[in-house]
Amino acid sequence: MSSDVLDKAISSLGIAILIVNEEMEIERANRAARRLFSRRVRGHTLHKATDSSKLEKAAGRALLEGKGQRLEIRIGQGRKQFLRANVVPLSSDSGKKSRRVLISFEDVTQMHRVTKMRSDFVANVSHELRSPLTSLYGFIETLRNNPEIAEEDRDRFLDLMENEAQRMVRLIDELLTLSILQAETELDLNGTVDMSALVGQVIESLAPLAHREQTNVVLQHPEHPVLVRGKHDKLTQVFHNLIENAILYGRRESDVWVSMKPDPVAADMINILVRDSGEGIAPKHLSRLTERFYRVDKGRSRSKGGTGLGLSIVKHILIQHGGELRVESTLGVGSTFAVVLPLAGASKEI
Ligand code: ADP
Repeated sequence: MSSDVLDKAISSLGIAILIVNEEMEIERANRAARRLFSRRVRGHTLHKATDSSKLEKAAGRALLEGKGQRLEIRIGQGRKQFLRANVVPLSSDSGKKSRRVLISFEDVTQMHRVTKMRSDFVANVSHELRSPLTSLYGFIETLRNNPEIAEEDRDRFLDLMENEAQRMVRLIDELLTLSILQAETELDLNGTVDMSALVGQVIESLAPLAHREQTNVVLQHPEHPVLVRGKHDKLTQVFHNLIENAILYGRRESDVWVSMKPDPVAADMINILVRDSGEGIAPKHLSRLTERFYRVDKGRSRSKGGTGLGLSIVKHILIQHGGELRVESTLGVGSTFAVVLPLAGASKEI
């Protein structure tokens, strides 16, 4: 094959390919390789182009001993990009000295990211389940070692144990909800939901909690029905989570307001705002609130029976509905969680 034809063939491939000669110089590089290493690679040494001595060693071995190798290298700023490299000697006889090596690269950065996210998630779940279990064990031990314990203390311990068990059940339920949401590829959004009625029902169902926290939840809605395309049960979950948070993280003996207004930018969207006058959230946390298990104050969330999954569930449901969650907060003043949803009849593509 002429070198022109070879160049064209290599160049048309989607995977990045380098051919390196005996001087460890790059003799050929296809377009994908030039893009990958974001520099002029041809004529440079392999080391200069990739900044990897591991790869240089593997190429040297392929040249001298005719032995191929697969390896992983890291490149780029902060070495955050992961590549799987396949080093192949280009000799006719395997096991003999070669004059050239071909190296192909596969970008496996995304795979690494997913693997890391998965293992972080498993570590988080284990930790979250372990802590209520540890305290349950503690109470069981105490009760077992103190058969003469006063009835009052025993009842108090049993209440605490019940709380811990409830927290575990809630965590497992929310994990299941999240995994179902993530597995659902398409949602049938043919139904129409009256948001004033839905939010009213949620407020009613949270009345015992509001009463306990001495909070008043006020709903302000327009005279006309506000109709949204979507699933009643899922949107109920969204407002349940947001209003529950507003009651729990808001100031005791103060109001939580739920109001509705047209979106300031998109005429076919509605904004439903849940506002509290609690401590507020510092700006650095705002963009991370919907991450699974992210909490501003872990102790406070735990003491309120929180799992750290509520806002993540909210985000997923809103994405399924073609909407989004916006958060504004001022420390010492309070927070507003705005649910942005497409109005029924709007022709917006989801
Ligand atoms: P949790 O079960 O901990 O409440 P969420 O996902 O619902 O989990 O919320 C994540 C975190 O966001 C909470 O732990 C809390 O730190 C913060 N947060 C949520 N809502 C509010 C609010 N209305 N005011 C202040 N902080 C809030």
